[in-house]
Amino acid sequence: MTHMDPSDPGSTPSIARIYDYVLGGSANFQVDREAAQVLLDAFPGERDYAWINRAFLRRAVTELCALGVDQFLDLGSGIPTVGNVHEIAHRVNPEARVAYVDIDPVAVHHARGLLDGDPRVTATEADVRDPRSVLDAPGVRGLLDLDRPVAVLVVALLDILEVDDAGALVAAYRDACAPGSALVVTNGCQMAATDAELEAFRAVLARTPTPTMTMRSADEVAALFAGYTLLEPGVVPSAAWRPDVPVTAEQAAGSNSWGAVGLRA
Ligand code: SAM
Repeated sequence: MTHMDPSDPGSTPSIARIYDYVLGGSANFQVDREAAQVLLDAFPGERDYAWINRAFLRRAVTELCALGVDQFLDLGSGIPTVGNVHEIAHRVNPEARVAYVDIDPVAVHHARGLLDGDPRVTATEADVRDPRSVLDAPGVRGLLDLDRPVAVLVVALLDILEVDDAGALVAAYRDACAPGSALVVTNGCQMAATDAELEAFRAVLARTPTPTMTMRSADEVAALFAGYTLLEPGVVPSAAWRPDVPVTAEQAAGSNSWGAVGLRA
């Protein structure tokens, strides 16, 4: 496993910053841009994947706000980009609270800069594989009321997380949150991508501190929702989850990921 030198985050590419570059952001270093360009040259569909993932996140958060959920715990939130969760939520409910959590110091630094002291939003640097430390962090514990419903966002995260039991990890967050809470997941899956394109993705990922990729089937993603009731249409290609306009089969396959939202009774 490649470890980032914390005194020099520009020495090793990170998935947070590669993803930021792919989405057109500027919170990345030369080493990230080079890695991202290698990836995009080999797998141009990565850009569609990233935009489809962000659009799914927007729709999921908007729908949950409409259902009355007003607290969000965004695990592996990434570098703030257009259409951040708090911006989306505040369009529907200006009182909504959003706790961002990421392991990448650059992502957290940028998030804090963007939030500019907004009391409704925090950014915490933590490893999501340690739920206790996340839930007890001042930025989470001090902002979210876990006795009321919380939407836990696990979007484009589990695919790159080295964890023995993803279901148990998701369940730990579920058990910490009140009835009425929600779970939002996307997870990579080979749909339109070719073997060679995925190989290129794996090769770039291998150079980062999160070097592995775990694809999941629709059934495996559904299993993460134990204790939740899946909202319609269930586990589907991310682009096809309550789309703004109907999507073709080809567009759905460009998701290369499953998306789903569940609610606890
Ligand atoms: N969730 C955002 C989205 O879907 O647009 C960002 C997804 S990005 C592909 C994955 C993020 O997970 C990166 O920002 C990375 O730093 C973060 N991450 C990876 N491992 C993590 C860990 N163990 N704890 C917290 N964050 C982690």
